[in-house]
Amino acid sequence: MTTQIPYVTLNNGVRMPLLGFGVFQIPDDQTQQAVEDALEAGYRLIDTAAAYENERAVGRAIAASGIPRDELFVTTKLWIQDYGQDSTERAFDRSLDRLGLDHLDLYLIHQPFGDYYGAWRAMEDPSRAGRIRAIGVSNFYPDRLADLITHNEIVPAVNQIETHVFFQRTDDHELMREHGVRHEAWGPLSQGGQGFFDNPVLADIARTHGKSVAQIALRWLVQQEIVVIPKSVRPQRMAENLDVFDFQLTKDDMARIADLDTGRSQVFDHHDPAGVKWLGGVRFDT
Ligand code: NAD
Repeated sequence: MTTQIPYVTLNNGVRMPLLGFGVFQIPDDQTQQAVEDALEAGYRLIDTAAAYENERAVGRAIAASGIPRDELFVTTKLWIQDYGQDSTERAFDRSLDRLGLDHLDLYLIHQPFGDYYGAWRAMEDPSRAGRIRAIGVSNFYPDRLADLITHNEIVPAVNQIETHVFFQRTDDHELMREHGVRHEAWGPLSQGGQGFFDNPVLADIARTHGKSVAQIALRWLVQQEIVVIPKSVRPQRMAENLDVFDFQLTKDDMARIADLDTGRSQVFDHHDPAGVKWLGGVRFDT
């Protein structure tokens, strides 16, 4: 039986699946198969990025699936080197071309560095023309998000940020809720780091529900209506990660998980000047 994935409604009325499939770090030559398997398992939201250099393979999988376009929700992201009015429009066209699509469901500014104002204003235009159903941002900390919202016309529909049991982002979540920005979690399994799959608290809660640690961590997010996009190239894990809608975490479970928050990124510190400088120099074949 295929799992029914709930949808959330974004601030412009567009509906987005609460759970999808991420393709970061899946090599180009494995991506088509992985996305075909994910679609077969029941995923309908696919999250890629120009910087993942696998948009073409995602596009081939979508075409091969035969699933009607309006049943899919495709997200891609604009990389820093392409920020700015003209370059953003060109990068958007190239992404659509690689994906083999005539519109995107969600287009995100990948990082809050460089000329993201120029990028945002360029993205506001085609969204009006109907080639992007929703626009949003990624990795925007509360100060940058508040700044972007204050000085622009369209409020981002989504902010995709690292969120998992070890980095819970409760202040970010509250700010996004106040402004109607949907919280989307990347790295929902902490990319397996910090002993994630052996965590005793998660393992104990998993036992009481007859579920896996991954399912508890994903349930904890979707129960807060945070969109999740776990990644796996293994069909069995794809199915496991989808199977999180037939149980509820209790108040006690939620309180125990709240205690796991370290308040720190496990992956990248967006406030570290050396990291910001380094990322600004990372270029991709977009
Ligand atoms: P994740 O937290 O989804 O962890 C993925 C890893 O967990 C995989 O390598 C896999 O080995 C393992 N895994 C998955 N399911 C499992 C299971 N059921 N049991 C045991 N192990 C399992 O990490 P991620 O891929 O970094 O994040 C998910 C998606 O978020 C990405 O694919 C990408 O689409 C997006 N993302 C966005 C950004 C950004 O800057 N916007 C950054 C990173 C990731």
